Amino acid sequence: MQKGTISVQTENIFPIIKKFLYSDHEIFLRELISNAIDATTKLQTLASKGEFKGKLGDLMVEVIIDKDNGTLTIRDHGIGMTEEEVQKYLNQVAFSSAAEFLEKYKDDANIIGHFGLGFYSAFMVADKVEVRTKSWKPRSKGVTWVCEGDPEYGIEKNDKKERGTDVILYINEENKEFLEEGRIESLLQKYCKFLPVPIKFGTRTE
Ligand code: ADP
Ligand code: MG
Repeated sequence: MQKGTISVQTENIFPIIKKFLYSDHEIFLRELISNAIDATTKLQTLASKGEFKGKLGDLMVEVIIDKDNGTLTIRDHGIGMTEEEVQKYLNQVAFSSAAEFLEKYKDDANIIGHFGLGFYSAFMVADKVEVRTKSWKPRSKGVTWVCEGDPEYGIEKNDKKERGTDVILYINEENKEFLEEGRIESLLQKYCKFLPVPIKFGTRTE
C-alpha cells in the first residue's frame, strides 16, 4: 500500500473537526448521504448529456449496518472516483483557513457541509474510514482509500466491479449507537426526507 500524508493548512485538523462538531456529531450521516446523492446526480447529468453511455441501473443510496464488523456503510452507484480524484478530493481538506474560520464561527455547527468539510465529519464517529470506489470512466480501476484520522492515509487498487462508492465507517467506542437500526432509522427520518434519490435502509426504502 502506497503511503502519504494528507495535506491541510493545520496539522491539527482532525482534533478540531471532532471537537468542533461534537455536540452535533450525528450530522455525519447527512453529510455522507449528501455526498452519495451528489455523486448520483452527477452521473445522471453525465447520462443526460450523452457523456455516460452505460447502464445507470438502480441508483439508490444504501445505508448498511454490519454489527459483526462494527461498521456502517453508505453506498452509492454514482460517478465514483478515479485514483487521481481520490488524491485530489479526499486527501486535501478543501478550505484554506480552517483554524481561523472555526475560531470565528465555533457556535455554528451547520457550516460543515458548506466548506468542503463534510466528508471529514465521518471521523467524529469513526476511528477508521475506508472508501472503496470505482469511477464511471471507462477502464478505471477500483481504488481503496483508508484513513485512521491521524492524518496518514493509505491508497491501493482494488477489484471493485460496480461503479460507485462505499464509505465504510468503523464506528468508535463512544458512538456504538450508530450501529443500532432504530437510531439510524430516526436520523434518516430527520435528515433524509424528500431527497432526489431513494435511500434504502434494511428492508425499507424511502
Ligand atoms: P463537498 O461535498 O462540500 O464538496 P466533502 O468534504 O463532503 O465536500 O467531499 C469532498 C469531495 O469528495 C466532494 O466534492 C467529491 O468530489 C468527493 N466525494 C465525496 N464523497 C463522494 C462520493 N460518495 N462519490 C464521489 N465523490 C465523492
Ligand atoms: Mg459533502
